[in-house]
Amino acid sequence: MTLRNANPVAIAGGGIGGLACALALARQGFRSLVLEQAREFGEAGVGLQVAPNALSVLDALGVGPAAKKHALLIERLLMMDGVTGEEVADVPCGARFIERFGNPYAVSHRADIHGALLDACRAHELIELRTDSRVLDFTIEPSGVAVSMNGGARIAAPALIGADGVNSAVRKTILNDGEPPPAGAVIFRATIPAAEMPQDLQHPYPTFWAGPGWHVIYYPVRDWSLFNLGCTFVTDRIKFGDGEDAAPNAVLPRFAGSCETPLRAMRIPKSFRHYVIRHREPVANWTMGAATLLGDAAHPMVQYIAQGAAMALEDAICLAGAAHDADGDFAKAFRRYQDIRIVRTARVQISSQMMDKINHAKGIERKVRNSLFEGRTPEEYYDRLAWLYTPPPYVR
Ligand SMILES: Cc1cc2nc3c(=O)[nH]c(=O)nc-3n(C[C@H](O)[C@H](O)[C@H](O)COP(=O)(O)OP(=O)(O)OC[C@H]3O[C@@H](n4cnc5c(N)ncnc54)[C@H](O)[C@@H]3O)c2cc1C
Repeated sequence: MTLRNANPVAIAGGGIGGLACALALARQGFRSLVLEQAREFGEAGVGLQVAPNALSVLDALGVGPAAKKHALLIERLLMMDGVTGEEVADVPCGARFIERFGNPYAVSHRADIHGALLDACRAHELIELRTDSRVLDFTIEPSGVAVSMNGGARIAAPALIGADGVNSAVRKTILNDGEPPPAGAVIFRATIPAAEMPQDLQHPYPTFWAGPGWHVIYYPVRDWSLFNLGCTFVTDRIKFGDGEDAAPNAVLPRFAGSCETPLRAMRIPKSFRHYVIRHREPVANWTMGAATLLGDAAHPMVQYIAQGAAMALEDAICLAGAAHDADGDFAKAFRRYQDIRIVRTARVQISSQMMDKINHAKGIERKVRNSLFEGRTPEEYYDRLAWLYTPPPYVR
């Protein structure tokens, strides 16, 4: 493949979105430089649900087999009523699901998905990876962008992609729309060694418990050696900082109305890690000339349909396709990329937020929620999920 840019495109952020973007650009012949603020490349958190649309992007980037190697291809998606313990919704993810969406539904350790992308980036001659490199801001120049780095360095690049997450510095220069507001919920995360997880709670799929004002999910990762546990609680009162430890006696009372089964899992960890869920309303623009945003920097969302990383992956492949079509005219390519992506990502942001009502329903709304799913056939579920799980045409 012929090299299409002598000077590399700068990508702020080496998370799932930034690395996928570097790889997608490289596969179209574009050089890039990934600028990651951390001392090492890595991922915060443990579990990641990888829906078929996300797996299709990983396949298209050539890392599908590596990403799936330690992932669990799940049998079903299950929602339980956290008060009564009854089953609310059951979506089979077997052969018919795979045939319909082109891929299974997986759960994985975040580091396994990120690691598959990182290995492929490291192996690609068109990608340079730099750690300890924090992007502060940028200016638009006649030749592209000038990126200001920590330590006073400036990098001239033909284009800048802000894949720098929910607190994006690149977004600040493009949109200046303040800090991402709390979404009204916090999550307490923990891992449970498989040996400590009761046998009857060990299932080859995520178990999701929907309670009034809270939800809990657990599933196996890393070849069943660990269980990822996430306990989300709706609140406007934030008592801990992001990433701080929380003792069980600060966590368990919030889920006191739960039936016994999820509590059995929640009582196991000696400590939880606390995060404030943040999001934004969709915006009508996230591009400025040869600078644009991707992933959480562009469209941060609550995690209630587990699609944030999937959207970052789809963005990456779409952006690289637009760069190819515009033959390296990045300002033109970024406008096209944004036009293609903005409605789908806004729909996912809005749909995720709407799941707050389903996942956390109280009183009569909880009973209405349960009745909505009664008698639904697998095909009826698949029809409702098709807009989300079917990979868009540019995922090739
Ligand atoms: C509790 C929870 C559960 C979730 N579960 C799922 C799920 O199951 N499935 C799913 O698809 N999504 C899920 N998501 C969403 C998903 O985690 C994010 O959407 C995804 O990680 C976004 O990737 P990103 O690359 O855009 O940003 P990030 O993963 O945030 O990566 C940004 C990178 O940029 C770096 N960075 C930040 N600022 C700078 C700077 N100024 N200069 C240089 N580098 C910088 C950071 O260090 C980081 O490495 C979940 C989110 C949460 C909060």
